[in-house]
Amino acid sequence: MALLAALREIAGEGAVLTAPADRAAYETDWRQLSHHEALCAVLPQSTAEVAAIVKLCAGEGVKIVPQGGNTGLVAGGVPAPGGNQIILNLRRLRQIRALDPVGDTITAEAGATLHAVREAAARANKLFPISFGAEGSAQIGGIISTNAGGMQVLSYGSTRAQVLGLEAVLADGRIWNGLGALRKDNTGLDLKQLFIGAEGTLGIITAATLRLYPAPSAQACALAGVADVAAALELFTRLRHQCGPALTLCEFIDGPAMQLGAAHTPGGRLPFGAPAYVLLELSALDAAATPAATLERLLGETLESGLTQDVVIAQSTREAQGFIAMREAVPEGELREGGAVKHDIAVPLAAIPETVAAIEALVAEKYPDCRLNVFGHLGDGNLHINIRPPAGQTLASLATRKAAITADVEALAVARGGSFSAEHGIGQFRLPGMRAHKSAVDLDLMRALKAALDPQNLFNPGKLLPEKDHI
Ligand SMILES: Cc1cc2nc3c(=O)[nH]c(=O)nc-3n(C[C@H](O)[C@H](O)[C@H](O)COP(=O)(O)OP(=O)(O)OC[C@H]3O[C@@H](n4cnc5c(N)ncnc54)[C@H](O)[C@@H]3O)c2cc1C
Repeated sequence: MALLAALREIAGEGAVLTAPADRAAYETDWRQLSHHEALCAVLPQSTAEVAAIVKLCAGEGVKIVPQGGNTGLVAGGVPAPGGNQIILNLRRLRQIRALDPVGDTITAEAGATLHAVREAAARANKLFPISFGAEGSAQIGGIISTNAGGMQVLSYGSTRAQVLGLEAVLADGRIWNGLGALRKDNTGLDLKQLFIGAEGTLGIITAATLRLYPAPSAQACALAGVADVAAALELFTRLRHQCGPALTLCEFIDGPAMQLGAAHTPGGRLPFGAPAYVLLELSALDAAATPAATLERLLGETLESGLTQDVVIAQSTREAQGFIAMREAVPEGELREGGAVKHDIAVPLAAIPETVAAIEALVAEKYPDCRLNVFGHLGDGNLHINIRPPAGQTLASLATRKAAITADVEALAVARGGSFSAEHGIGQFRLPGMRAHKSAVDLDLMRALKAALDPQNLFNPGKLLPEKDHI
C-alpha cells in the first residue's frame, strides 16, 4: 500500500506497525472496552516527522488518532469505528529539551512520560506537581490534551495551569511554535489554550514548556478514618482553613474502594478499619517547618472532637508512599476484579454529601445487586463514582444497564451544578453526556473551532464532539 510505504519513508521501517498482533495494544484502550482497527500505528521520532505524516495523511484523506501512553479512561486515544485511520503514537518523541532553574520551567517533548518529567524536575530540586497512578505511562502530550488533574490540583491547579508554551502540528502539516516560557504575554489570543483539553481533535502537540515549583523541603502524610463523606468534607474544610495551600493532597476513599486498593497493592495493609478514609499530605518549603508535628496536633484535635475515628501519621517516606499506593491502586483493582461502570463527576464542595447520598439511594433503589465505590479528589469536588457488577460477575453482566446507570449518575451531578466529566475528558465514552448536558451554543462554538482548525476532520474523528444529527 502506497500510504504505508510513504509512512516508512518518513518515520523509518520499524516505526510503522501493521501486523494485527503489533497493532493490538495501540488499538485497545486501557479499560479494554474499545477495540477498532487502524491501518497501522506509526511512531515518529521528531516534530518534523509528525508534520510530514500529517501532510501525507491530509493529502490522502486518511484520519489520524493521536496517542500518548494510552492510559486515558474514556477511549479518546484509540480508534473509533469508521476505518481509514492511523494511530500516531508519540512515545519516541520524548526528549527533555531544556530545564531552566531560574525561570522555573521545563521543556519536554510530547512523548516524555509524566514520571520522566517529574524525575527531571526532582533532580533539579524542583517539583512538577501533576501526579497520579498512571504517571509511569501517561505522557506530556496526553496529560495536556486531557487537561489531566490528579492528586495535587488542590494546591497547584490542573495541567492547564502548568502550561506556559506549546509546539503543535496543525491539520495542514504546519508546525506552530508557541513554546514561550513567559508568565505574562498579552499579545492577542492565547492560542495554546485551544489545544489544552482538546483531546487531539485540533492539532498534535509535539512539545510543551511547563511550570515548575520549588520542591518541598518537608512533607507529612496521614490516613484518617471517618464516619462518612460529610465528616470527610468537614475535615477537609477545617484543615484547609488551618493550613491553606500547605495542604497539598486530600483524597476521599470509601471503605470498599480502600479495601480494593489495599488488596491490589503489593504489601498493602490498612492500619485500621473505617467506614471511609481521608488521605492527607502537608508540605512545607521552610526547612525549619515541621509538617508532621502540625498534622499530629491538628488531627489530634479532630480525634478528640470525634470528627475522625482513627488516625495514622506516616512515620517514613516509605509508609507515606504505601498509603498513596493503596489509593492509586483502586482503578487497577477494579479492572482486575471485573471492571466497573466508571464516572468522573464534579460538584460544588458543599453539595458533595447530598450528591453521594443521592447516588447511594439510586443504587439501592434501581441497581441493588451492584456494588458502589466512591473515591476521588475531595478538595476539587471531583468524585469517581464507580458501580461494580455483582460479586463474581464481569462488567459484561451490566451491558444492558450500563447506559442507564451512567445517564442517572451524570444527571445527578449536573442537576447540582456539577460536571459529568471532571478530569478524564470526553473521548468516546462520554459522548452521550455531551449530547445530554452541553447547550446547543456550547456545541456550536466547539464545532466552529473544529471547522476552522481542522476543516477535513482529520484529527481524532468520533471523539469529543457528538455528530450533529444526534443532538
Ligand atoms: C490508573 C489510572 C489512574 C488515573 N488517574 C488519573 C487522575 O488522577 N487524574 C486524571 O486526570 N486522569 C487520570 N487518569 C487518566 C489518564 O491517565 C489521563 O487522562 C492521562 O492524561 C492520559 O495520558 P496519556 O498519555 O495516556 O494519553 P492517551 O490516553 O494516549 O490519550 C488521551 C487523549 O489525548 C490525546 N493525545 C494524546 N497525546 C496527544 C498529543 N501529543 N497531541 C494531541 N493529542 C494527544 C488522545 O488522542 C486522547 O484523546 C488515570 C488513568 C489510569 C489508568
